[in-house]
Amino acid sequence: MFFRKSKKNAPPEQNPSVKLPEGPEDDSGAKLEINASGGYFRRLKDQLSKTRKSLSDGLERILAGKKKIDGNLLEQLEELLITSDIGVQTTLALMEKVSSAKISEADQIKALLKAEILSILETPRSTPSEKPPPAPRVIMIVGVNGTGKTTTIGKLAAKATAAGQKVLIAAADTFRAAAIEQVTIWAERAKADIVKHKEMADPAAVAFDALTAAEARGVDLVLIDTAGRLHTKVNLMEELKKIKRAISKKIPDAPHEILLILDATTGQNALSQAELFNEALGVTGLALTKLDGTAKGGIVIGICDTLKIPLKYIGIGENIEDLQRFDATQFVDALF
Ligand code: GDP
Ligand code: MG
Repeated sequence: MFFRKSKKNAPPEQNPSVKLPEGPEDDSGAKLEINASGGYFRRLKDQLSKTRKSLSDGLERILAGKKKIDGNLLEQLEELLITSDIGVQTTLALMEKVSSAKISEADQIKALLKAEILSILETPRSTPSEKPPPAPRVIMIVGVNGTGKTTTIGKLAAKATAAGQKVLIAAADTFRAAAIEQVTIWAERAKADIVKHKEMADPAAVAFDALTAAEARGVDLVLIDTAGRLHTKVNLMEELKKIKRAISKKIPDAPHEILLILDATTGQNALSQAELFNEALGVTGLALTKLDGTAKGGIVIGICDTLKIPLKYIGIGENIEDLQRFDATQFVDALF
């Protein structure tokens, strides 16, 4: 089932867990929501528990009862980092830092790792632009099937409308009728407008019409949903390029963001997807979803280390409020 209709997915006004304002600021200046049952950071920590158990508890196990750093300890540490899906290259770099640091006591390792991981996560930063935000701001959402594009659009739309913005969603995944239905339900929930055509309609035409409507209606934010699978990968990329061209034809400096959605549970695969999409489209930001469902959240570290594309959002659940602006310090604090 692509979509679960349940009480926990109720619209914000019926859902006490969606509250404004609290938590770090969004791009738009909107405050991100928190969960009523304990706050933004608590929610992050709860939802990352699988990764924390694997990484942080694993580290405690390795260090337990050890006083000095020895070869055996380093070997176990390396294995732990690899199994957390940090990736071989990043793991080796971290191991190098541990070996070359002037520490000999085992209990210094955790603090060192935490600091090194934080410095990886802090780069690359997204530099806030000096220009006033364009209206409408156009975000094209891309990614392979099932990574969470439509869900992330719903969450982003809900955030923006809750902050008082006028939002329009373009249903440019015309490949399946079910995809149009799904994004329509999200638009209703998020109180956003939607522009849609029939199944199998030209997605570039949907995007173009959406921008025409957005300009006419004074919309602040346009979110463009796209397909994640066509007959072959090559066709998909060509289709996405065509959508991008149609957007630029209507608004020359748009899309202002090409947000690639990656599924954390796919591990190292996410890295190759990012390379493919970036090559074809020029990805400007990443959102990593399903961090709640995986013990392999270490992929965040690998992604920030390997790809020079800013990680902007993390998805930590299926609910409308389960999208957070990525904050390196909070993320590390939630993990260790
Ligand atoms: P799309 O094909 O890229 O549009 O993906 P969808 O938005 O349809 O999402 C696919 C599935 O992933 C749905 O069942 C979503 O509920 C689920 N999903 C999306 N984001 C998250 C997340 O952050 N955590 C969890 N646990 N599930 C998610
Ligand atoms: Mg979709």
